[in-house]
Amino acid sequence: MDDVVVTNAHIAELCAVEAERHEGNKAKAFKRASRKAFTWPMEAATVEELTELDGVGPFLSRVIAEWIAEGTTPDEPPPLRRDFITFAEARAMKRFGVRGDLQMHSTWSDGGSSIDEMADAAKARGYEYIAMTDHSHGLRIVKGLDEAALDRQAGEIAKVEGIRVLRSIEMNLSPSGEGDLEPSALAKLDLVLGSFHSQLRKKEDQTERYLAAIANPHVHVHAHPRGRIYNYRMGLSADWPRVFAAAAEADKALEIDCYPDRQDLNVDLLRIARKEGVRISIGTDSHWHPQLEWIDIGIAAAIKARIPRDRILNLMSADDLCEWAAAAR
Ligand SMILES: [Zn+2]
Repeated sequence: MDDVVVTNAHIAELCAVEAERHEGNKAKAFKRASRKAFTWPMEAATVEELTELDGVGPFLSRVIAEWIAEGTTPDEPPPLRRDFITFAEARAMKRFGVRGDLQMHSTWSDGGSSIDEMADAAKARGYEYIAMTDHSHGLRIVKGLDEAALDRQAGEIAKVEGIRVLRSIEMNLSPSGEGDLEPSALAKLDLVLGSFHSQLRKKEDQTERYLAAIANPHVHVHAHPRGRIYNYRMGLSADWPRVFAAAAEADKALEIDCYPDRQDLNVDLLRIARKEGVRISIGTDSHWHPQLEWIDIGIAAAIKARIPRDRILNLMSADDLCEWAAAAR
């Protein structure tokens, strides 16, 4: 028998399948481990104590140890769980470094870390800059920023030392592509991300929605474009070559959201993005400072899709990035 190496991606899928076969607490534990497997820093097959991995208790550690020992691998995942990169796989790849991270949240909206904590963690990573992209107020499920709060936040950002914090926002876009902040407030920001957070389960083609968002003159980066979530939501569909071509024409960027269960754009779509020549922004969508390390997942996706380096915003200097954003308005 050949020695089969069971990867974290295999374990994730095996857990997801087991979750569907069980009920109650076991189903919940399998489902949670399936998601967490994408965040494990090392391949489980190389770890001494499996219970040290997030989401793995004594019961799951016995199940996973047996899969590793037996060389058990799953069938190809269904579309809802396909084309996700594990953090362990990303870390094992040869990667380029980035100069900054272009999506994160702080306690000003739904994040768990202060701006200072995010900035300190970014400095420790050797970044030159970060974009502080808290949610705007129109997203009702979180406490978001209105124009006055954005002004107050600017005062706190100005006090940060040792790293440049770009004034930014993750602005909620309506399905017709409109934002929820005054243009005069947006004009004061270095970078504006726009994203959809509603009507993400529509089955019909959403090309028009994307074209409207790209035409919004105040938005520079379209964040987590599809709105997919691992094992939960497929996200929207569109005529992607047309959407990416329109973004390239308008000189707007589309985002790789590195959050492990988002990974949106995924590698398949990034290949189309490369062909159309659109700019790419990489953001971890961190809601807590340790999550900044997930940048590796987005970098891995960009490398797999062979996105040219000169198309990646995070490889620009902060000055060049701000200049590009100012010109795109
Ligand atoms: Zn978002």
